[in-house]
Amino acid sequence: MILPEHREALLAAIPNRDSRPIWAIADGRYGMDRTRPAGERWQLSRTPWWKQPLDDFRDDNVREIVIMAGSQCSKTAGMLVALAWAVKNCPAPMLWITGNDDLAKDASQERVTPTLERCPDSAPLLLNNRLDKTTWKIRCKTCTVDIAGAQSSTALEQNPYRFVFGDEVRQWPTGSLQKVEKRQRSFGDAKRCFFSTPMLKGDEFHQRYLAGTQCEWVWPCMKCGAENKLEWKALVYEHTASDGMDAIAGPVIRCSCGVYHPDSPTIRRHIIERGHWQAQNPSPQVGVVSYHWNALLPPWVRWADLVAEWKQANDHLKRGNPEPLKVFVCETLGEPWEEREIEADPKALNDRRGEYDRGDAWEGLLTRADGAAARFLAADVQQDVIYWRCRLFGKDGESRGHGWGRCFTFAELDTEAKRLGVPPYFVGVDSGYRTTEVYRACAQYGWKAMKGEDKQEFIVDEPGVGRVRRCWNRSQADPHAGTAQAGRVIVPLYLFADAAMQDMLALHMAGKAGSWSYERDAGSDYVAQLLSEEKRPDPKTGKVEWHRIRRANHLRDCEKMVLVLAIASGVLRA
Ligand SMILES: [Zn+2]
Repeated sequence: MILPEHREALLAAIPNRDSRPIWAIADGRYGMDRTRPAGERWQLSRTPWWKQPLDDFRDDNVREIVIMAGSQCSKTAGMLVALAWAVKNCPAPMLWITGNDDLAKDASQERVTPTLERCPDSAPLLLNNRLDKTTWKIRCKTCTVDIAGAQSSTALEQNPYRFVFGDEVRQWPTGSLQKVEKRQRSFGDAKRCFFSTPMLKGDEFHQRYLAGTQCEWVWPCMKCGAENKLEWKALVYEHTASDGMDAIAGPVIRCSCGVYHPDSPTIRRHIIERGHWQAQNPSPQVGVVSYHWNALLPPWVRWADLVAEWKQANDHLKRGNPEPLKVFVCETLGEPWEEREIEADPKALNDRRGEYDRGDAWEGLLTRADGAAARFLAADVQQDVIYWRCRLFGKDGESRGHGWGRCFTFAELDTEAKRLGVPPYFVGVDSGYRTTEVYRACAQYGWKAMKGEDKQEFIVDEPGVGRVRRCWNRSQADPHAGTAQAGRVIVPLYLFADAAMQDMLALHMAGKAGSWSYERDAGSDYVAQLLSEEKRPDPKTGKVEWHRIRRANHLRDCEKMVLVLAIASGVLRA
């Protein structure tokens, strides 16, 4: 640990300590990370909204900087500038910590190390011995920068850090933010920065944002000078003949004085150059500043592209998949996804009752490009009984129940699936219970094993697409693990984010996603099982969560897994 008097001595030993603002020091001089070309310099004029957060970084009264912004909105670049500046001007133990080890490796190789190497202030201080520069630790003459992933790291338990740069906070395990605070207590002048796209309203990251100043970007109207907040709902993109906007192509922001601000280079420059931060929180926690911005702000993002993304996401919702809308809200608008309370509502469910009976043929049944009919069956395995549910999907997210029941053996389940015409690869069996037996049945019959996990999303590298967030992921399982036959067979294992799938099923059951219905002859037992869970605040923690209110929820679990199968097969995205 460095005592304050030692640090002062250390600082005094550094020649030419620069007293200008960080942004002035970095402007046109600091190199950028590997997402930018090697010769490119950080320019304040490109992202002038970074001026105030960088001033906060130097301000001893500010202890915590929270940045909640969309992806591709330059929310990390400014933090890298602060890091490079601190290595020279405020040397002290530093930690760059992100969601998990994979993200940390990326951050180290693509962002932190290249930035320090490309900055004239930090580059000469780097020790270039192989052992001094690893993925997890960068040693400088003045200090050490540790890099870690919050999900697996013990960094937060071990070393005290004066500066903590917390990236992708939405991915951090519960309680990590408090750990950061605790670890910094030995530094009277500690500073922590949390910057991330948000996830859920009211989660830990969002709460830190709410505790702070909640600064939003405001900018003056070109005509009347009134200040407008840069928010999504201000964007007008549907033009009608009568509103006098025929001459203007593309989306506009309309001031209350009636003037339209289209997406022109002049207006986009005006918004970032003449705009400023405005705190929305009249009583922030002392020492905590927070900022929110969305993809409307960076001039390199076209508003028309955002409108297209928004329309597409809503189209997906209509066709049964709410996930793109959630991604749009969190990743593009930089706003947390609303955690709604959802009652088990018998009346609303009754509205979804169809005009057909179980087993009825359906002309609307969709056939996938490879000829597979969109018939799905999911099974919930109990101690001595197996519950199953079959569902058919049509065009545009329409789906119909096609039977449900109970059986006692996997052979009987196979018979039911065949009777209903469900291809084996569209059969999913929950493997949370009697796991090995389920794996072996999947290997025998060609089914998919399934398992719900207690998380909100998976980060998945999709070939040709890149890193995406979604509510399910492919994995695999070995039915003979631990035996002499291990490694000979693998079965597909589909993992899903349970709470996210609960939400998605609720949207379908409420008629708000796709066009979901169930059989006219469905009895009270089916209905009761569908209404077996509701979402409400936990009396102890206040966190809005799903709670089971009836013991039997098997058919509900099956419906949830059917949706996972339909999404994973591409049918619900079609
Ligand atoms: Zn105006």
